[in-house]
Amino acid sequence: MENNKEHRAWLDKHNLEHPLVIAGPCSAETEEQVLKIAHELKESDTTYLRAGIWKPRTRPGNFEGVGAIGLKWLQRAKKETGLLTATEVANKAHVDLALEHDIDLLWIGARSTVSPFIVQEIADALKGTDKVVLVKNPVNPDLALWIGALERMHTANIKNLGVIHRGFSTYDKSKYRNNPEWQIAVDFQTRFPDIPLICDPSHITGKRDMILEVSQTALDLNYDGLMIETHYDPDNAWSDAAQQVTPSSLIQITKDLRIRKEMDDEAGYQSKLSQLRAQIDVIDNALIETMGKRMKTADAIGALKKTRNVAVLQSKRWNEILGKMILEGEEHGLSEEFILRVFKAIHQESINHQEKVINS
Ligand code: PEP
Ligand code: MN
Repeated sequence: MENNKEHRAWLDKHNLEHPLVIAGPCSAETEEQVLKIAHELKESDTTYLRAGIWKPRTRPGNFEGVGAIGLKWLQRAKKETGLLTATEVANKAHVDLALEHDIDLLWIGARSTVSPFIVQEIADALKGTDKVVLVKNPVNPDLALWIGALERMHTANIKNLGVIHRGFSTYDKSKYRNNPEWQIAVDFQTRFPDIPLICDPSHITGKRDMILEVSQTALDLNYDGLMIETHYDPDNAWSDAAQQVTPSSLIQITKDLRIRKEMDDEAGYQSKLSQLRAQIDVIDNALIETMGKRMKTADAIGALKKTRNVAVLQSKRWNEILGKMILEGEEHGLSEEFILRVFKAIHQESINHQEKVINS
């Protein structure tokens, strides 16, 4: 899929002075709810009103969406407010209904992107559409799968494209609902600089008080827009209550965000510099997280050694690690001297951790 600016024409056409905002409830619940939220969002930077009509739920028994009737509510909201409409489609039947109801933007959810069969079914149903189609990243951190889904849309002659970064699920507990793994989205952006990249801080964080911070990181990384779940009574929402914000919080969030625009040469330089710095911050955070994980594993080794009364320092093993890392480092352009210094420091911290466990 060659890089081609035509894929972002739909976005450029809006002529926005700020990042694109897609906002609205996780799920359409009632007609009154959809209309009330839409009217409150009229005062914000929102261009597209989102609402889930069919909800993919990890476990059965949760609210699974109101179904096709909700599309009529979206249509009415559009008529009354002028907001464009957006919903998730997960099979051919959804696509047919969404197109019948003239929904402006359709997105493919994270649980659908993982399945090439379902993605192909959706692509076939959408063939040649002039609607906007956005592909969420798959739940698992697999860049190729994400790109593959986008390619299937492109091959189906869909011109108005984009992707949504909503984070990746992990078995490990983390402060995020879905780990952002920013590097994957940055890699995507490097390969496809012309495809609009939208961040969904709601599903990344799972918590409304972290949405500003994650949105800011996305804008620092030069994302084109945000999708933020918005509800007039978030705590009583029928799905994803903890992560939704009120329309007035959304307005505040968009005011608090620092937006960097490329204007002249100097501004272009500054904006590129802050984008690269934001990438460095993401990588540094990942380094700290990885080192923290390493030390937790060292604690577990300490506990195991304690049961056998084994010495903390085992030089043979340490020399093996060092030898391997020097070779590995060389392949990544890292000097032997640097690897020695870093790994000595890591090893020392690891020994401290193990000793603490053994002597406790
Ligand atoms: C949603 O946007 O409400 C949703 C279900 O998202 P995801 O596919 O990212 O989980
Ligand atoms: Mn949701």
